Amino acid sequence: MKVDPTANGVPLPERVAAVFADDGALARELPAFEPRASQREMAGAVADVFDGGGTLLAEAGTGTGKTLAYLIPAVLKGERVLVSTGTKNLQEQIVSKDIPLLQQVLDSPFTVTCMKGRGNYLCLHRLDGLRNGAPALIDVAVPERSAWIDRLASWSVRTETGDRSELADLPDDMPLWQEVSASAENCLGASCPKYHECFVTRMRQRAADSDIVVVNHHLLFADAALRQGDFGEVIPDCAHAVLDEAHQLEEIATQYFGVAVSTFRVEDLAGDVERWAVSRLRSPQREAVLGGVERLRRHARHLFQSIGSSSGRFDERMRFTADLRALAIEPGAEVCGTLEGLHGTLMLLQHAPDDGAVAIQGDALNDLIALARRTAALREDLEFLLEASDYEFVYFVETRGRGVHLRAAPIDVSRLVRSALLEHRHSTVLTSATLAVDGSFDFVRSRLGIQQARELRLASEFDFRSQSILYLPRRMPPPKEHSYAPAAGAEIVEILRRTRGRAFVLFTSYAMLRAVQPMLASTLSYPLLVQGTAPRGTLIDLFRRTPNAVLLATSSFWQGVDVAGDALSCVIIDKLPFASPGDPVTAARLELIANRGGDPFAEYQVPLAVLTLQQGLGRLLRHRLDRGVLAVLDPRLKTMGYGRRFLASLPPAPVTSSLQDLEDFFAR
Ligand code: SF4
Repeated sequence: MKVDPTANGVPLPERVAAVFADDGALARELPAFEPRASQREMAGAVADVFDGGGTLLAEAGTGTGKTLAYLIPAVLKGERVLVSTGTKNLQEQIVSKDIPLLQQVLDSPFTVTCMKGRGNYLCLHRLDGLRNGAPALIDVAVPERSAWIDRLASWSVRTETGDRSELADLPDDMPLWQEVSASAENCLGASCPKYHECFVTRMRQRAADSDIVVVNHHLLFADAALRQGDFGEVIPDCAHAVLDEAHQLEEIATQYFGVAVSTFRVEDLAGDVERWAVSRLRSPQREAVLGGVERLRRHARHLFQSIGSSSGRFDERMRFTADLRALAIEPGAEVCGTLEGLHGTLMLLQHAPDDGAVAIQGDALNDLIALARRTAALREDLEFLLEASDYEFVYFVETRGRGVHLRAAPIDVSRLVRSALLEHRHSTVLTSATLAVDGSFDFVRSRLGIQQARELRLASEFDFRSQSILYLPRRMPPPKEHSYAPAAGAEIVEILRRTRGRAFVLFTSYAMLRAVQPMLASTLSYPLLVQGTAPRGTLIDLFRRTPNAVLLATSSFWQGVDVAGDALSCVIIDKLPFASPGDPVTAARLELIANRGGDPFAEYQVPLAVLTLQQGLGRLLRHRLDRGVLAVLDPRLKTMGYGRRFLASLPPAPVTSSLQDLEDFFAR
């Protein structure tokens, strides 16, 4: 770890202020640098908290330049700092753009490691296992799979990182990657024969020697939630942390502090046990293990068929009700029994046989121990889920893509977040363009368990009064009425005619998107790009390159998407983005607040929707020269009492209900 040679005992806040000064390093080295009071203020606050300790909540509106405002104090601190982002996009932008810029501007040399989730890296040991397995398990009927195994093997000796992103043509959802990725669950840790060459081990060592470690919240929480021993964790201890896009922390923590058993997890284990048995055992032990694997697959199929979506809809989450649980109990008990039997068989194999057969030793024994551990963990988790009795969790079934997942998610993550992220750290900065609701941080504090914290709110650097106009239609039916979708479609058509396309139309549901899409397609001549027709990154690229394009999208495009310039000149929001009370996790949170005597709508649904709406509208202005139209079609903004809370949170743009004003705006 470096000690900054330029520090000379000067306190961190002073050194940071010097970099941002009118004649500082940024102004000298970057011709395009524009001093911003809000950026300096944030950088000073970050430096103060790094020095003095504690927690800083910093809402930094668009255009503040918050990334440099926390990276510069982090670099100058001279102790390892963890930087975590909500999205891989921002993580990549920090590593490929901001860090190289600072390496050029700052006198102090510093090192950086970017860490992604373990599932992004190749596991050399599993790849070996696959290559040494029985041919029948490798290439029968799928020559493409066999070719990929060869490619992975030759890539594994060339790559420095083992990061799958180097293989541009590896399909996102290729099942083979699941079998060779370095997930914590499958890792043997220090007893692995490949431990010292392992990409994850090497990444961990690099991170431990680095000044700045850049991760994303998914890895952050996966790491914090690991329970199976220290080798699963990869993020080194950092006394200081910056959590950017902090408005996403609650949702991501919910995913990682839960328990889940899925079709994928069962098949992962079954496949690994099968490959191990075929390559390492002889009859009759081999048949005993393979018989257990076959029973596991059969009973698991029965279990997941009985609880999977009967509506035929994908991406559906249903509460694990007493009725659903009744259907699951019997097949679930069969799966648990089979796992217990398989575990017993694997444990017996660990001991020297008394029939003269060769004892299992070395790598094969290490693999066997790991498989037995995974089998026991799977059974334990499934029993917990079938029991469904821990009142701190909500239990539900999720049908997503080809998989069925039985899950338990913590209803209140505040204690978990506090102990995983805030305690045991000298200082933590939580920042985002949207953290405050009704001018206060109370909502985010209560959701994340933050008690003592310094607070800072910095307005956007953009001039919404001249750069934008907010359109609220004069008359719209209530969103629950059937006539809402056609009325919304008609408004969208009229707005897009004025903006000549160049718009994101952000929907709160696929149902609304599908209802409006045909009308837009038949009326407008602008190119329509629709979520789901191509990967997210491809659609954004296409949008940037296609003149007058219109992108129709739902929740995943409401944040973390950055299109500067004329290509994006309008953002239309169909409805106020309330979390659906039909979603099991949302419903459980609403119930918890009601049971405590609170008002779930006012205390949870409204503030969450306000933050989401601000994120969605925040897509429009990404640069000081950007201009455009914001439109919110939902009449409840004006007709309901709570609409005032939304109106107060909207950017300070001139408001209009006249389409002519939109024309005039673009004519200026
Ligand atoms: S240490 Fe774990 S991830 Fe690394 S090669 Fe071995 S089993 Fe795979």
